[in-house]
Amino acid sequence: MIPIICQEPILRFAPSPNGRLHLGHALSAMTNADMAKAMHGRLLLRMEDIDVLRCTPDFERSILEDLHWLAIDWQQPVRRQSEHFAFYRAALDELIARELVYPAFLTRGEVKAKVAAVEDRGEIWRRDPDGAPLYPTEERHLDPSTRQQRIAAADRYAWRLNMDKALAEIRSAQAGALCWSETGDGEKGQIVADPAAWGDVVLWRSDAPSSYHLSVTLDDAAQGITHVVRGLDLYHATSVHRLLQALLGLPAPTYHHHRLLLGPDGRKLSKSNGDTALSTLREGGAISADIRRLVGL
Ligand code: GLU
Repeated sequence: MIPIICQEPILRFAPSPNGRLHLGHALSAMTNADMAKAMHGRLLLRMEDIDVLRCTPDFERSILEDLHWLAIDWQQPVRRQSEHFAFYRAALDELIARELVYPAFLTRGEVKAKVAAVEDRGEIWRRDPDGAPLYPTEERHLDPSTRQQRIAAADRYAWRLNMDKALAEIRSAQAGALCWSETGDGEKGQIVADPAAWGDVVLWRSDAPSSYHLSVTLDDAAQGITHVVRGLDLYHATSVHRLLQALLGLPAPTYHHHRLLLGPDGRKLSKSNGDTALSTLREGGAISADIRRLVGL
Protein backbone atom coordinates (compact mmCIF):
# COMPACT_ATOMS: atom_id res chain seq x y z
CA MET A 1 0.00 0.00 0.00
CA ILE A 2 1.27 3.50 -0.78
CA PRO A 3 1.39 5.56 2.43
CA ILE A 4 -0.53 8.84 2.26
CA ILE A 5 1.53 11.59 3.85
CA CYS A 6 -0.68 14.35 5.17
CA GLN A 7 1.30 17.42 6.06
CA GLU A 8 -0.24 19.34 8.93
CA PRO A 9 -1.01 22.90 7.80
CA ILE A 10 1.22 25.45 9.53
CA LEU A 11 0.54 29.16 9.10
CA ARG A 12 2.21 32.21 10.55
CA PHE A 13 1.44 35.82 11.31
CA ALA A 14 4.65 37.82 10.96
CA PRO A 15 4.38 41.45 12.10
CA SER A 16 7.32 43.84 12.41
CA PRO A 17 7.47 45.47 15.86
CA ASN A 18 8.41 48.88 14.45
CA GLY A 19 5.07 50.53 15.20
CA ARG A 20 1.59 49.82 16.49
CA LEU A 21 -0.67 47.39 14.66
CA HIS A 22 -3.58 48.81 12.67
CA LEU A 23 -6.79 47.40 11.20
CA GLY A 24 -4.89 45.96 8.21
CA HIS A 25 -2.85 43.81 10.60
CA ALA A 26 -6.05 42.71 12.34
CA LEU A 27 -7.41 41.54 8.96
CA SER A 28 -4.17 39.63 8.35
CA ALA A 29 -4.00 38.05 11.82
CA MET A 30 -7.70 37.09 11.76
CA THR A 31 -7.49 35.66 8.24
CA ASN A 32 -4.48 33.58 9.34
CA ALA A 33 -6.31 32.37 12.46
CA ASP A 34 -9.54 31.60 10.54
CA MET A 35 -7.67 29.66 7.84
CA ALA A 36 -5.58 27.75 10.40
CA LYS A 37 -8.78 26.76 12.20
CA ALA A 38 -10.61 25.78 9.00
CA MET A 39 -7.67 23.57 7.96
CA HIS A 40 -7.20 22.09 11.46
CA GLY A 41 -3.70 23.50 11.34
CA ARG A 42 -1.44 25.50 13.63
CA LEU A 43 -0.76 29.20 13.73
CA LEU A 44 2.71 30.48 14.66
CA LEU A 45 3.80 34.02 15.48
CA ARG A 46 7.02 35.53 14.19
CA MET A 47 8.39 38.93 15.13
CA GLU A 48 10.17 40.31 12.07
CA ASP A 49 12.57 42.51 13.98
CA ILE A 50 15.69 42.45 11.80
CA ASP A 51 15.68 46.24 11.80
CA VAL A 52 17.12 46.45 15.30
CA LEU A 53 17.03 50.26 15.31
CA ARG A 54 13.32 50.69 14.54
CA CYS A 55 11.96 47.56 16.29
CA THR A 56 11.51 47.89 20.05
CA PRO A 57 10.36 45.68 22.96
CA ASP A 58 7.56 48.20 23.62
CA PHE A 59 6.12 47.73 20.14
CA GLU A 60 6.43 43.96 20.56
CA ARG A 61 4.54 44.17 23.86
CA SER A 62 1.79 46.23 22.26
CA ILE A 63 1.49 43.68 19.39
CA LEU A 64 1.11 40.84 21.90
CA GLU A 65 -1.55 42.80 23.80
CA ASP A 66 -3.46 43.53 20.58
CA LEU A 67 -3.37 39.88 19.51
CA HIS A 68 -4.57 38.65 22.91
CA TRP A 69 -7.38 41.20 22.81
CA LEU A 70 -8.34 40.02 19.30
CA ALA A 71 -8.48 36.47 20.75
CA ILE A 72 -5.88 35.19 18.28
CA ASP A 73 -4.29 31.95 19.51
CA TRP A 74 -0.84 30.98 18.37
CA GLN A 75 1.49 28.21 19.28
CA GLN A 76 4.55 29.08 21.40
CA PRO A 77 7.37 29.90 21.15
CA VAL A 78 7.32 33.22 19.31
CA ARG A 79 10.20 33.31 16.82
CA ARG A 80 12.20 36.53 16.86
CA GLN A 81 14.30 37.17 13.77
CA SER A 82 16.83 39.19 15.78
CA GLU A 83 17.79 35.91 17.51
CA HIS A 84 18.67 34.17 14.23
CA PHE A 85 21.21 36.38 12.45
CA ALA A 86 23.80 33.55 12.40
CA PHE A 87 21.27 31.33 10.61
CA TYR A 88 20.64 33.98 7.91
CA ARG A 89 24.38 34.66 7.65
CA ALA A 90 25.09 30.98 6.95
CA ALA A 91 22.73 31.11 3.95
CA LEU A 92 24.35 34.34 2.75
CA ASP A 93 27.80 32.71 3.08
CA GLU A 94 26.60 29.84 0.91
CA LEU A 95 25.44 32.32 -1.76
CA ILE A 96 28.79 34.18 -1.49
CA ALA A 97 30.66 30.89 -1.97
CA ARG A 98 28.51 30.14 -5.04
CA GLU A 99 29.25 33.68 -6.35
CA LEU A 100 25.54 34.41 -6.63
CA VAL A 101 25.82 37.63 -4.61
CA TYR A 102 28.24 40.54 -4.85
CA PRO A 103 29.17 43.46 -2.59
CA ALA A 104 27.36 46.60 -3.73
CA PHE A 105 28.77 49.98 -2.78
CA LEU A 106 26.57 52.62 -4.43
CA THR A 107 24.73 54.88 -2.00
CA ARG A 108 21.06 55.79 -2.51
CA GLY A 109 22.18 59.23 -3.70
CA GLU A 110 24.58 57.76 -6.25
CA VAL A 111 21.88 55.46 -7.65
CA LYS A 112 19.45 58.38 -7.81
CA ALA A 113 21.99 60.51 -9.72
CA LYS A 114 22.65 57.72 -12.24
CA VAL A 115 18.95 57.17 -12.82
CA ALA A 116 18.31 60.91 -13.18
CA ALA A 117 21.13 61.22 -15.75
CA VAL A 118 19.62 58.45 -17.88
CA GLU A 119 16.04 59.70 -17.53
CA ASP A 120 17.13 63.28 -18.33
CA ARG A 121 18.32 61.96 -21.68
CA GLY A 122 14.78 60.68 -22.26
CA GLU A 123 15.80 57.05 -21.80
CA ILE A 124 14.00 54.55 -19.61
CA TRP A 125 15.45 53.17 -16.38
CA ARG A 126 13.54 50.08 -15.29
CA ARG A 127 11.65 50.17 -11.99
CA ASP A 128 10.65 47.34 -9.68
CA PRO A 129 7.00 46.43 -8.86
CA ASP A 130 7.14 48.91 -5.93
CA GLY A 131 8.25 51.69 -8.28
CA ALA A 132 11.88 51.91 -7.12
CA PRO A 133 14.58 52.10 -9.79
CA LEU A 134 16.49 48.83 -10.31
CA TYR A 135 20.02 48.83 -8.90
CA PRO A 136 22.71 49.41 -11.56
CA THR A 137 24.42 46.14 -12.42
CA GLU A 138 27.97 47.33 -13.12
CA GLU A 139 29.41 46.09 -9.79
CA ARG A 140 28.55 42.50 -10.67
CA HIS A 141 31.82 42.21 -12.51
CA LEU A 142 34.38 44.01 -10.32
CA ASP A 143 37.61 42.05 -10.21
CA PRO A 144 38.42 40.39 -6.86
CA SER A 145 41.25 42.75 -5.89
CA THR A 146 39.23 45.93 -6.61
CA ARG A 147 36.39 44.37 -4.63
CA GLN A 148 38.69 43.72 -1.65
CA GLN A 149 40.06 47.27 -1.77
CA ARG A 150 36.55 48.74 -1.89
CA ILE A 151 35.36 46.55 0.98
CA ALA A 152 38.35 47.69 3.06
CA ALA A 153 37.61 51.35 2.26
CA ALA A 154 33.80 51.24 2.48
CA ASP A 155 31.88 52.47 5.51
CA ARG A 156 29.07 50.24 4.51
CA TYR A 157 28.04 48.06 1.60
CA ALA A 158 25.29 45.55 0.86
CA TRP A 159 25.30 42.06 -0.57
CA ARG A 160 23.07 41.93 -3.64
CA LEU A 161 21.87 38.96 -5.62
CA ASN A 162 23.23 38.77 -9.16
CA MET A 163 19.78 38.25 -10.65
CA ASP A 164 20.96 37.14 -14.11
CA LYS A 165 23.34 34.57 -12.65
CA ALA A 166 20.72 33.29 -10.20
CA LEU A 167 18.14 32.89 -12.97
CA ALA A 168 20.65 31.14 -15.23
CA GLU A 169 21.39 28.69 -12.41
CA ILE A 170 17.70 27.95 -11.90
CA ARG A 171 17.10 27.54 -15.64
CA SER A 172 19.87 24.97 -15.89
CA ALA A 173 18.69 23.09 -12.77
CA GLN A 174 14.95 22.86 -13.43
CA ALA A 175 12.75 22.35 -16.42
CA GLY A 176 9.81 24.73 -16.71
CA ALA A 177 9.07 28.07 -15.18
CA LEU A 178 9.39 28.97 -11.51
CA CYS A 179 5.80 29.14 -10.21
CA TRP A 180 3.84 29.40 -7.01
CA SER A 181 0.43 28.20 -6.02
CA GLU A 182 -1.87 31.11 -5.09
CA THR A 183 -5.29 30.98 -3.42
CA GLY A 184 -5.72 34.64 -2.38
CA ASP A 185 -7.92 37.58 -3.35
CA GLY A 186 -5.96 38.55 -6.48
CA GLU A 187 -5.03 36.26 -9.36
CA LYS A 188 -5.30 32.60 -8.32
CA GLY A 189 -3.83 29.31 -9.49
CA GLN A 190 -0.29 28.64 -10.66
CA ILE A 191 1.44 32.01 -10.89
CA VAL A 192 4.64 32.33 -12.89
CA ALA A 193 7.25 34.07 -10.73
CA ASP A 194 9.05 37.06 -12.25
CA PRO A 195 12.02 37.73 -9.96
CA ALA A 196 13.85 39.62 -12.74
CA ALA A 197 11.33 42.44 -12.24
CA TRP A 198 13.16 43.24 -8.98
CA GLY A 199 16.70 43.36 -10.37
CA ASP A 200 19.64 42.74 -8.05
CA VAL A 201 17.81 42.70 -4.70
CA VAL A 202 19.61 43.33 -1.41
CA LEU A 203 20.09 40.21 0.72
CA TRP A 204 22.28 41.72 3.45
CA ARG A 205 23.03 45.24 4.63
CA SER A 206 25.71 46.41 6.97
CA ASP A 207 23.30 48.61 8.98
CA ALA A 208 20.40 46.08 9.28
CA PRO A 209 21.85 42.60 8.93
CA SER A 210 19.89 40.28 6.65
CA SER A 211 17.07 41.50 4.46
CA TYR A 212 13.35 40.93 4.58
CA HIS A 213 13.57 38.65 1.52
CA LEU A 214 16.30 36.41 2.89
CA SER A 215 15.03 36.08 6.46
CA VAL A 216 11.37 35.57 5.53
CA THR A 217 12.27 32.82 3.08
CA LEU A 218 14.58 31.04 5.51
CA ASP A 219 12.15 31.35 8.43
CA ASP A 220 9.16 30.07 6.48
CA ALA A 221 11.22 26.95 5.72
CA ALA A 222 12.68 26.64 9.24
CA GLN A 223 9.21 26.89 10.79
CA GLY A 224 7.74 24.40 8.32
CA ILE A 225 5.20 26.94 7.04
CA THR A 226 2.86 25.29 4.54
CA HIS A 227 0.59 28.31 3.88
CA VAL A 228 1.81 31.89 3.78
CA VAL A 229 -1.15 34.21 4.37
CA ARG A 230 -0.35 37.92 4.03
CA GLY A 231 -1.47 41.11 2.28
CA LEU A 232 -1.54 41.67 -1.47
CA ASP A 233 1.19 44.30 -1.01
CA LEU A 234 3.63 41.36 -0.80
CA TYR A 235 2.25 39.51 -3.84
CA HIS A 236 5.12 40.50 -6.17
CA ALA A 237 7.77 39.93 -3.49
CA THR A 238 6.79 36.26 -3.67
CA SER A 239 8.72 36.04 -6.95
CA VAL A 240 11.94 36.77 -5.05
CA HIS A 241 10.99 34.33 -2.30
CA ARG A 242 10.37 31.56 -4.83
CA LEU A 243 13.75 32.24 -6.43
CA LEU A 244 15.55 32.08 -3.07
CA GLN A 245 13.70 28.86 -2.21
CA ALA A 246 14.81 27.32 -5.49
CA LEU A 247 18.44 28.48 -5.03
CA LEU A 248 18.65 27.26 -1.43
CA GLY A 249 16.73 24.01 -1.93
CA LEU A 250 13.84 25.03 0.34
CA PRO A 251 10.22 23.87 0.03
CA ALA A 252 7.61 26.20 -1.49
CA PRO A 253 4.55 26.92 0.66
CA THR A 254 1.15 27.75 -0.85
CA TYR A 255 0.52 31.51 -0.86
CA HIS A 256 -2.68 33.38 -0.03
CA HIS A 257 -2.42 37.14 -0.51
CA HIS A 258 -5.49 38.78 0.96
CA ARG A 259 -7.13 42.12 0.08
CA LEU A 260 -5.75 45.28 1.68
CA LEU A 261 -7.68 47.79 3.74
CA LEU A 262 -7.43 51.31 2.40
CA GLY A 263 -7.61 54.58 4.31
CA PRO A 264 -9.89 57.50 3.38
CA ASP A 265 -7.13 58.76 1.07
CA GLY A 266 -7.38 55.49 -0.92
CA ARG A 267 -3.92 54.39 0.20
CA LYS A 268 -3.00 51.27 2.14
CA LEU A 269 -3.14 51.82 5.91
CA SER A 270 0.16 52.66 7.53
CA LYS A 271 1.53 52.43 11.05
CA SER A 272 1.80 56.22 11.23
CA ASN A 273 -1.96 56.58 10.68
CA GLY A 274 -3.12 56.81 14.32
CA ASP A 275 -6.92 56.47 13.90
CA THR A 276 -6.83 52.87 12.85
CA ALA A 277 -4.29 51.75 15.46
CA LEU A 278 -5.73 48.74 17.27
CA SER A 279 -4.62 50.09 20.66
CA THR A 280 -6.61 53.31 20.03
CA LEU A 281 -9.71 51.31 19.11
CA ARG A 282 -9.21 49.06 22.14
CA GLU A 283 -8.88 52.05 24.49
CA GLY A 284 -12.07 53.44 22.91
CA GLY A 285 -13.94 50.33 24.11
CA ALA A 286 -14.07 48.21 20.92
CA ILE A 287 -14.08 44.42 21.27
CA SER A 288 -12.78 41.72 18.97
CA ALA A 289 -16.20 41.27 17.28
CA ASP A 290 -16.25 45.00 16.39
CA ILE A 291 -12.85 44.70 14.76
CA ARG A 292 -13.95 41.63 12.81
CA ARG A 293 -16.87 43.66 11.44
CA LEU A 294 -14.68 46.71 10.74
CA VAL A 295 -12.25 44.65 8.66
CA GLY A 296 -15.12 42.99 6.77
CA LEU A 297 -14.80 39.43 8.04
N1 GLU B 1 6.82 41.57 8.39
C1 GLU B 1 6.01 41.88 7.26
C2 GLU B 1 5.08 43.05 7.60
O1 GLU B 1 4.88 43.34 8.77
C3 GLU B 1 5.16 40.71 6.79
C4 GLU B 1 5.98 39.71 6.10
C5 GLU B 1 5.24 38.51 5.55
O2 GLU B 1 4.13 38.20 6.01
O3 GLU B 1 5.83 37.85 4.71
O4 GLU B 1 4.56 43.65 6.70
